[in-house]
Amino acid sequence: MSEPSLFPRDVVEQGPVSVVTGGSGFLGSHLTDRLLKEGHSVIAVDNLVTGNTRNIGHLAGNARYRFVKHDVSQHIFLPGKVDYVWHFASPASPIDYLELPIPTLKVGALGTHNSLGLAKAKGAKYLLASTSECYGDPLIHPQREDYWGNVNPIGPRGCYDEAKRFAEAMTMAYHRYHKMDTKIVRIFNTYGPRMRLRDGRVVPAFIGQALTGRPLTVFGDGRQTRSFCYVSDLIDGIFRLSQSNFHEPVNVGNPHEMTILEFGQHVQRITETKSEIEFRALPQDDPKVRQPDISRAKALLGWEPKVPFAEGIVDTIEYFRGQEDQLAAFAQAER
Ligand code: UDP
Repeated sequence: MSEPSLFPRDVVEQGPVSVVTGGSGFLGSHLTDRLLKEGHSVIAVDNLVTGNTRNIGHLAGNARYRFVKHDVSQHIFLPGKVDYVWHFASPASPIDYLELPIPTLKVGALGTHNSLGLAKAKGAKYLLASTSECYGDPLIHPQREDYWGNVNPIGPRGCYDEAKRFAEAMTMAYHRYHKMDTKIVRIFNTYGPRMRLRDGRVVPAFIGQALTGRPLTVFGDGRQTRSFCYVSDLIDGIFRLSQSNFHEPVNVGNPHEMTILEFGQHVQRITETKSEIEFRALPQDDPKVRQPDISRAKALLGWEPKVPFAEGIVDTIEYFRGQEDQLAAFAQAER
């Protein structure tokens, strides 16, 4: 008798099976779409604490897709073959991990352990979604992968940064000790459709404020920098990394750097809003600069971002314009 599976046998025989933790989140859902296009079957595992089923509604009824509501900080049991595990589950915006510090630490630590355990049991390849937060408030600019970072372990961002650093250490231990095929991507600021309007990150925050006539809340003097990557570029870099033979961390992001104040001015101009900029206190340990050095990704994966900021941001604004219920809730909450 063949092993039970979430998919009919003909589906499993057609191509690889991927498990995506955090599969209903912003990145997890875009990754799922890409994997389905590549011929994978996908099992999304998500506890919906920050993810949202609106991101996966278009997949309902797809024979190569299954959704399992589960917290991956608990043991993950899945029947049948698994070829790839992609660990994308985690609160990922500063206000989310400030509100959920313990689940954030648990999913980075226990969730990574459980998802690595699943990959090991199934003989699957593994890819960890890590982060530029591993570099903390960086003293090296732009950030290269061989920089060990400047993280405050006990500050408000420590729960996320240290969980991801632990996750990287755990992934490398499984690679070295268990000889598993693992990959680590360090993801820099990414934007695009399916971000949650109220997740507090600067892209949805400014767009939501501009579209609802609220002031754009620039933290500090707005001279801190970020470099924004459009989601399709990011997913392409990650997919290429999964097909490589490289096991150490690889930065994937867009080196196009700007200040937060400049970013706010772009949003003002493109949305033609009357919203003014309003300055607010800078959160503790907010990194002053951030820009990926992508030499490794370029050399190793032949990858670099293609979508110019001017195009990506217009698409993202258009997406949010269409999210009337989210905009109404945003306007209500900002009052
Ligand atoms: N930021 C801001 N106003 C907001 C939200 C964020 O000025 O309403 C700033 C924040 O202080 C940081 C940058 O924008 O310097 C990017 O913040 P985000 O939360 O998007 O992510 P981070 O890159 O800090 O993880």
